[in-house]
Amino acid sequence: MNVYLHKVRVFFVAALVFSSVAMCSPTEDIWISGKPKVITTISPLTSITENIGGNRIVLLGIVPEGVNSHNYHPVPSVIKHVESADLIILNGLFLEDPVMRIIETTSNENRKMLSLGDRAVSKEDWIFDSSFPKTKGVPNPHLWPDPLMALKYADLIRNELVELDPSGAAYYNENFVKLSGRIEDLDRRIVDAVESVPQENRRLFTYHDSWPYFARRYGLDILGAIQPSDLTEPSAREIVELIELIKQEEVPAVFGSKIFPSPVIEQIAKESGATFVDGLSDDDLPGIPGDDEHSYLGLMVNNLTIMVDALGGDSSFLELVDVSSVFAGNSKAEYLQ
Ligand SMILES: [Zn+2]
Repeated sequence: MNVYLHKVRVFFVAALVFSSVAMCSPTEDIWISGKPKVITTISPLTSITENIGGNRIVLLGIVPEGVNSHNYHPVPSVIKHVESADLIILNGLFLEDPVMRIIETTSNENRKMLSLGDRAVSKEDWIFDSSFPKTKGVPNPHLWPDPLMALKYADLIRNELVELDPSGAAYYNENFVKLSGRIEDLDRRIVDAVESVPQENRRLFTYHDSWPYFARRYGLDILGAIQPSDLTEPSAREIVELIELIKQEEVPAVFGSKIFPSPVIEQIAKESGATFVDGLSDDDLPGIPGDDEHSYLGLMVNNLTIMVDALGGDSSFLELVDVSSVFAGNSKAEYLQ
């Protein structure tokens, strides 16, 4: 390669790396406020924690929205926050393995860890599928799209915050009660919305395989996922097989994923005759931090609206879910973008 071109290329790569690190730097003054310091990984967990901790904690979600959480490596600027945190909350079930490896390189004897998925279900409840095959021993980690699992997460987070900051117990309990009421309301409305979908359409075929626990809760069938288990694109042979499967099963819609834009999914939908519907998300919250809908509840309402509409049901059941924060005032939560 021409030396000049090479230098230009190196400069641009360096600039890109530098700007992404700078963009992801958390705010310093928030972290040294004297309040309990909590680190979370993906945004749905940050949102649930924010709703319970409210303005009594400082909170930093270290997996930026819009990245692939399954293989994300934290940026260097968050490592000192990881080190000095009082509590680290993860999904677990092997979702955040690279994050775990970073955590293990930092030491802090007083820091506590809460691995929600590992505490919320026992191994008997694990779901294995084509994306997370039993032979690899790693279960599908996407528990939170099932609101009853999210409720368990909220309960575990409440208990941990009460232990960390006993004088805030009444506040955390009050927020938990409000949030659990909202999640139970969401659950009832999802039941109604799914019941409005014609029986023969209660089937999901998605790009990214995030919905098995949700599907088990609401009686939908998972027909498959396009993304192979190593999170690459399907091979030419797999694409042909997928098209055949979609035709044979008369799949009503193929759902794309916000985090994994795929050039093949539209082609698969087109050649198989299924409708292509984009925009499902397992961890990228709608809107921007500070918006009401930028929350776990907002994420689920958005997903369900897309899903139920595409499957021929009535998504208006979801319209009245209150997706805003349960606590008054501003929180000290930061979602890396
Ligand atoms: Zn995922």
